[in-house]
Amino acid sequence: MGANGDVPRLGGEQFTCPFCGLPQDRVPTLDHDWVLLEPGVDVLAHLVPAEYRWIVVSDGRVTVYAVCPPDAAQRCRIEHRLACSEQQLPDLWPWLTALRVENGRRAERRAAGEPVPVWAEIELPDAG
Ligand SMILES: [Zn+2]
Repeated sequence: MGANGDVPRLGGEQFTCPFCGLPQDRVPTLDHDWVLLEPGVDVLAHLVPAEYRWIVVSDGRVTVYAVCPPDAAQRCRIEHRLACSEQQLPDLWPWLTALRVENGRRAERRAAGEPVPVWAEIELPDAG
């Protein structure tokens, strides 16, 4: 557990992460809620899965930027929990998780000497 106390402010309120002890920016969202963002990190939106992109709007609040495909120059912030070394990553790419689960089944069948089925009902994202 991290130390608490006063963390230097970077334009907003900061909260100490209870998992790793590092500071997080507590930022209000357009949904009248709060989100804990990684301080000092903003990345190109296309590098982040759509539901995990937070963009700052004019009044300083943030909202999810789920536009697909994202504007090439759009940058976004990410939640600290994605960057936290002490927390499990959420299911960032559901299709990839589905692929892994399906591969688990295929590996079991192969180990049992059963025929391994070809790809069935996994929905892969469109190329491009
Ligand atoms: Zn943390």
